[in-house]
Amino acid sequence: VVEGGEVTYKKIQSKQIMGSIQLGIHNTVGSLASKPKRDLLMNDFWETETISFPPDGSSITPAHHYSDFRFKVYAPIAFRYFRDLFGIQPDDFLFSMCASPLRELSNPGASGSIFYLTDDDEFIIKTVQKKECEFLQKLLPGYYMNLSQNPRTLLPKFFGLYCFHYNSKNVRLVAMNNLLPSDIKMHCKYDLKGSSFRRKASKAERQKASPTFKDLDFAEHHPNGIFLETDKYNALMKTIQRDCTVLESFQIMDYSLLLGIHNLDLAAKEKREERIRNARAKLEKKENVNDDDAPEADQYQLHAVASYASIPGTSGAGLNRTRSMNRQRLVAHSTAMESITADMDVTLDEDEDVPAGGIPARSENDERLILYIGIIDILQSYRLEKKLEHTFKSILYNGDTVSVCHPSFYAKRFQEAMAKQVFKKTPTFPLKHSPSKR
Ligand code: ATP
Ligand code: CA
Ligand code: CA
Repeated sequence: VVEGGEVTYKKIQSKQIMGSIQLGIHNTVGSLASKPKRDLLMNDFWETETISFPPDGSSITPAHHYSDFRFKVYAPIAFRYFRDLFGIQPDDFLFSMCASPLRELSNPGASGSIFYLTDDDEFIIKTVQKKECEFLQKLLPGYYMNLSQNPRTLLPKFFGLYCFHYNSKNVRLVAMNNLLPSDIKMHCKYDLKGSSFRRKASKAERQKASPTFKDLDFAEHHPNGIFLETDKYNALMKTIQRDCTVLESFQIMDYSLLLGIHNLDLAAKEKREERIRNARAKLEKKENVNDDDAPEADQYQLHAVASYASIPGTSGAGLNRTRSMNRQRLVAHSTAMESITADMDVTLDEDEDVPAGGIPARSENDERLILYIGIIDILQSYRLEKKLEHTFKSILYNGDTVSVCHPSFYAKRFQEAMAKQVFKKTPTFPLKHSPSKR
């Protein structure tokens, strides 16, 4: 909610939330350092720890400029174990979370959650509802079991669960992995459920600089799906299938596959255009000095620039290139490629224009794509709340297309959509080159 130019959540200024959680995380990671590492025990999953942060400071907390607050940490030892499993050193976690201010992301979701991104792009902090927070707590032992058996997964990686308590309000937050590196331009982003019912990005969403599209938009943009090489297709489908089995076992539904697409051919074209723009800027400077002296070749280039001027879907997605394209990620198994397979070559190419970590693919027009994917929003359990909604909606609409339905049906439909409509195996013959539709 934006109130008078200030972003707020539950009427608390976003700035206060961000600053306070950084203080809280700093404190908890610091105090954990004095507790020696040990094996995880069952009660570690239920434990919580609450610290008060008076503005004047205390023997264990620093003085600060925010209002008085309390910070609750859920299952600190368990999450330390998870972070360790993903190779995140306490110092690195502290540095990512606390060294620089967090950035706020605009959320296309309807839930009203706020998303914060760490400055180094590694972690996302999402506000969650009380029910979701309680569900994640209950999920932890099973999540632990799943991760120990299978660290290669597209399921979200949870690194911490917190509650910021201020002015008798609670803001619950979960820290997880960021799926879309912001230094790599996503030419398109999709939130896919395998359902068609009302799965179209709103007008407001489509007008954003970098909209998140949905299933029906995907079907329109990619009527024949996206093509993967056989081994990558198989690895991806196997991972999705395994993950869906886990989600179904927890009666989880309403999750999505988040798909970010970096289009290498479009990126190269944009680079060329930028060079032309720069050349034009230079030329205009020269023209100002000597009015009618522009050589013919440059005039020709100006026309070329004009006709390229607006390409739909590529405008405005400004990037702050804060990180080198090929930097190794901090979190182990966190790139799309690592998530689906243990034994595939993760580095694609020595080419510095090809960003690392994504899954190589092709569009039906044979454009070269790099995919960034993960399963998100898994904290809704059918058992907890969906029963009522299902019976109600299925009376009104055809039950098959309503996105709220039984978890096993949801998982099946999700997998089928991914395997048949969204992703396709590359045919053995070369895809024909046809002019881009754009
Ligand atoms: P709703 O319940 O209404 O669907 P929500 O508030 O629970 O929404 P999510 O569905 O979790 O939010 O995510 C909303 C959007 O935020 C996604 O479509 C995606 O664009 C972005 N997003 C969520 N999680 C991540 C992530 N781990 N990495 C990158 N982007 C993410
Ligand atoms: Ca969602
Ligand atoms: Ca949600």
